[in-house]
Amino acid sequence: MASPEAGGAAAILHAIQHSPISVELNFKVQSKKLIKSLTTDLQKCEDTDWAGIETDHLLKPIVACLRGRGTKCTFQRIADTENLKMKEALEMLGHTQDQENPTELLTDIPPEYRVSGLKLSKGTQRSFYRAIKGKRKAPDREKTTIMMGRTKCEAEVLAGRTTTDTEIWNSLCHIDLTRTTRDFLWRCMHQAYKAGEYWRNIPNFEHRAICQHCQVDDNLDHILTECEAPGREILWNLAKRLWEMKGYQWPEISLGRVLACGFTEVEDANGKRDRGADRLYRILVSETAHLIWKLCCTRVIERGSDPTCYLHLRLPFLGTFRVNSFPRVK
Ligand SMILES: [Zn+2]
Repeated sequence: MASPEAGGAAAILHAIQHSPISVELNFKVQSKKLIKSLTTDLQKCEDTDWAGIETDHLLKPIVACLRGRGTKCTFQRIADTENLKMKEALEMLGHTQDQENPTELLTDIPPEYRVSGLKLSKGTQRSFYRAIKGKRKAPDREKTTIMMGRTKCEAEVLAGRTTTDTEIWNSLCHIDLTRTTRDFLWRCMHQAYKAGEYWRNIPNFEHRAICQHCQVDDNLDHILTECEAPGREILWNLAKRLWEMKGYQWPEISLGRVLACGFTEVEDANGKRDRGADRLYRILVSETAHLIWKLCCTRVIERGSDPTCYLHLRLPFLGTFRVNSFPRVK
């Protein structure tokens, strides 16, 4: 059921949009709040980006329409006792909304009448906070939803229970992870990195959509878990070797497994939770994935995928070697 403000605002908008521009309009409105929002409080409403006003999606186009008219428009408040016709109008509105094909209101605002944002000089801490809280939730990104699903599957395997989106987001900010690594995981979750498909329609950079080393479509999965370019396999093998020194079995790595690393729960031979191993695993997996990504960026962006310019890794305990000449760990 529409609120009196919403019903009244919808009726006003409909009337304005269907009246000749040269006609003077006089609206009889029940809601005092609605009249004030469109007259005496209008400046304040626009300065605060309509914070706390639920019908802003109707009021903004009304204001834009009124500004586009050159004729006089007045609002008159009517008492509740004189409101029988208004009730009938609301009932008609509710009836219209129940129909299969209700009349749609045009709420597009021409650019020249578009006023948005919160005026900094007029805001207070309270009003800013209220405006942020009142912002409508942004629609879910398809890529993020897919990656969240993959991460939840892996987290369920690691934690032995179902997990929520909130738990997944919190795990990406785990206290064991550095700020840089948290940022890396967050971007991976959103698939926000410029990799693979991103380059497909960028003039002169279309070749970056393909891994020049493997000649297959490039993407984060390929970079972190499949690419045959020097560096990736070596780094995962080093991580595996370090992990196996703790006496635990190294799992098969996937992008979902990397993103779910915060849910690791390792048990020792006695079935006791090994929290030190949990922490090592989290750091090992996330840092290795991040380093592989950085190597890929250097190879592709800075060195143009030129095989003669591949990187040399310098490890204190193994010396310096060309990444594609390092012996495989058995
Ligand atoms: Zn590759």
